[in-house]
Amino acid sequence: MTLRDRLGDTSHIRGPIEDNRSLKDLVWFRVGGPAEILFQPADEADLQAFLKILPQDVPVTVIGLGSNLLIRDGGISGVVIRLSVRGFGGTEALSPTRIGAGAAIPDKFLAAKALELGLSGFAFYHGIPGGLGGALTMNAGAHGSETAERVVEVRGVTRDGEVMTLPVGELGYSYRHSAPPPGFIFTSAVLEGIPADKESISEAMKAVTEHREASQPIKARTGGSTFKNPPGHSAWKLIDAAGCRGFRIGDAQVSEMHCNFLINTGEATAHDVELLGETVRARVYETSGIRLDWEIKRLGAFVPGAEVEPFLGK
Ligand SMILES: Cc1cc2nc3c(=O)[nH]c(=O)nc-3n(C[C@H](O)[C@H](O)[C@H](O)COP(=O)(O)OP(=O)(O)OC[C@H]3O[C@@H](n4cnc5c(N)ncnc54)[C@H](O)[C@@H]3O)c2cc1C
Repeated sequence: MTLRDRLGDTSHIRGPIEDNRSLKDLVWFRVGGPAEILFQPADEADLQAFLKILPQDVPVTVIGLGSNLLIRDGGISGVVIRLSVRGFGGTEALSPTRIGAGAAIPDKFLAAKALELGLSGFAFYHGIPGGLGGALTMNAGAHGSETAERVVEVRGVTRDGEVMTLPVGELGYSYRHSAPPPGFIFTSAVLEGIPADKESISEAMKAVTEHREASQPIKARTGGSTFKNPPGHSAWKLIDAAGCRGFRIGDAQVSEMHCNFLINTGEATAHDVELLGETVRARVYETSGIRLDWEIKRLGAFVPGAEVEPFLGK
């Protein structure tokens, strides 16, 4: 019996359910295999209804705008859920300092909304190419600010299809990390800003753009910063010192411009990208004794026979 058959009657589900759906066009790297099923809920009630009919043993994976993801070439079994901007991309002013925002809103639009409302503290989002759900998961940040500082509370749906609201203190935030309850899908958040004049906010956003254009391959097929900065170190400096700038495997390359970015220069596979990343980790360890940890989330299965062994088994 196929997974689709196991879902039974889906006539009440409004969002599209697609079988064996390629995910390449949904991730920045443009690599990787398909989802067994891709479901894009129309809204929160649709997401709840779908999760209620989905058998409990079926794995669920959520993706946002795919700017921090490496999906392996064997694809993702079970269901992949992607929130649509139409159903989850709204924003509203809740008070003079608070914004309510759907989890699919692109970070850039969130920064623009904060500017419109005269709220500072969101300019760093102007340069992050993901959506709010990804930012809430990754505790995305830049220029000395991070998501956890702006969050008041989040709303989401559990694996059982129940809606739950959680205050920021229950999200286990640390550097590029969160720990919501297992299976929790963020659907919206309440965020708090600091009233400020629009000109200074606009200047801060402009500075973010200028910094990005000068220092990052922002138009490349990439997943952003590949590794977390180890305490007291910059990942890019360690990678540079290990002689990895520009190093390539197939069409996967360590960016010449910013060597904590891996890029797909053409027809790279996810295998090429992951092997390159593990090779960089090994070389950095050899030269500095420091272990780099992946910031990019690697999802899905290897093609059998083409596994990438993790560096030193970790
Ligand atoms: C050019 C470039 C520059 C970047 N610069 C920065 C930077 O300065 N700072 C920074 O922090 N990051 C940066 N990134 C990385 C990335 O943009 C962020 O991590 C971003 O927050 C990811 O959001 P996303 O919507 O793309 O999430 P995805 O990459 O799709 O997913 C990331 C993680 O979030 C989970 N997720 C997504 N949505 C939900 C949801 N609704 N509910 C539950 N889980 C969810 C996914 O399961 C996955 O684990 C950069 C990336 C690129 C390509």
